[in-house]
Amino acid sequence: MKKFDPSTSIHDYLVFGEFGDVNPSVTDSSTFTFINPQRMEDLFDHEIEGCFLYSRHWNPINKYLSNALARLEDSESAQVTASGMGAISSTILDICSTGDEIISGRTIYGGTYAFFKNFLPRFGIKVTFVDLQNLKAIENAITDKTKIIYGESISNPLLEVTDIPAISIIAKKKKIKLVIDNTFSPMIISPIRLGADIVIHSMTKFINGTSDCVAGCICSTHDFIASLTDINSGATMLLGPVLDSYRAASILKNLHSLHIRMKKHSENALFLATEFEKLGIKVFYPGLRSNKNFDLINSIMNEGFGYGGMMAIDAGSYEKASALMTRMQEEKVGYLAVSLGYFKTLFSSPGHSTSSEIPEEEQKSMGLSEGLVRFSIGLDNDITIAFERIKKCLKEINLI
Ligand SMILES: *Cc1c(COP(=O)(O)O)cnc(C)c1O
Repeated sequence: MKKFDPSTSIHDYLVFGEFGDVNPSVTDSSTFTFINPQRMEDLFDHEIEGCFLYSRHWNPINKYLSNALARLEDSESAQVTASGMGAISSTILDICSTGDEIISGRTIYGGTYAFFKNFLPRFGIKVTFVDLQNLKAIENAITDKTKIIYGESISNPLLEVTDIPAISIIAKKKKIKLVIDNTFSPMIISPIRLGADIVIHSMTKFINGTSDCVAGCICSTHDFIASLTDINSGATMLLGPVLDSYRAASILKNLHSLHIRMKKHSENALFLATEFEKLGIKVFYPGLRSNKNFDLINSIMNEGFGYGGMMAIDAGSYEKASALMTRMQEEKVGYLAVSLGYFKTLFSSPGHSTSSEIPEEEQKSMGLSEGLVRFSIGLDNDITIAFERIKKCLKEINLI
């Protein structure tokens, strides 16, 4: 485990508003004035610190939030986007052209999977899905056209931990970019420090944490962010997934409590995972000693934020999973809803969405069952109350 270096954390980062406001002013402008035409021409040519042109390109509040996210991920630079998918699609389309190839983990977020499988082939970009737990399979899939290896630090829905240091060695040898979606584990895992080139977040989830908006970000080198925002050729500039200023301001304020929230999500999830395991339920949680990735996550994670708030259990069949989720909602354990990182516990059944495209035999070998229930554990002050309620539901449908 690594100590989180406070000199790079957002808590060692001071910004002031126009009048010394502790929260920087919200940018309420789409366009910006110039002192003379020459200065405007200069900005078209190259970025000028503190000088803004048009809000689809940059504006002050989006810059403040981006800088804070760069501190969070210890990257040179960052850019915020209107959604996690906006961050993912812009990153891929900035790097890849027709004829290029991507190697991706086979269990990834449903929207990313659909973008890779159904959308990118229209542009002649080929994606090969592999088991990222199998380093040999990654090496074997590399061709001279491979531009990106893509994975999630903790994957959806089985919570497999990606060996970022080992995969980054493979990627660097072949000059391939390693792109990591860190949505499930902000603060907990720092992919850039472990060798990733680009980190993506759906800020819709833990980073914002209030389930009131959709947003994303891309953290990487100055060069890559400059490429994305290039006025004449950049993917975010030209595809236009710009985050609204008012949202950027509210996300920045929520970011300030991220470390406390992550600790509590993790503490509650570890408690429930441990208790479920004792009851004989099949649990997927990387913080359990019995988990296949327990040693790996301990070797790469930052100290003090736990193993994350995401967990899955196997209810055996889709019917049992549905009954369990219905009863848990009635018992006020939380909400039957997709998404994650909310103060309330959320649960859904991934077996009928993302993973349905994976051949049945393969699903079985991966441990992906139709009865899987994925949880985003909430910030309950006393998680034992939720545990007693869940236990009651499990008993009623004869799972314990
Ligand atoms: C939700 C999610 C996304 C997509 O983000 P949006 O903000 O919904 O566009 C990408 N990756 C992961 C892991 C997610 O959970």
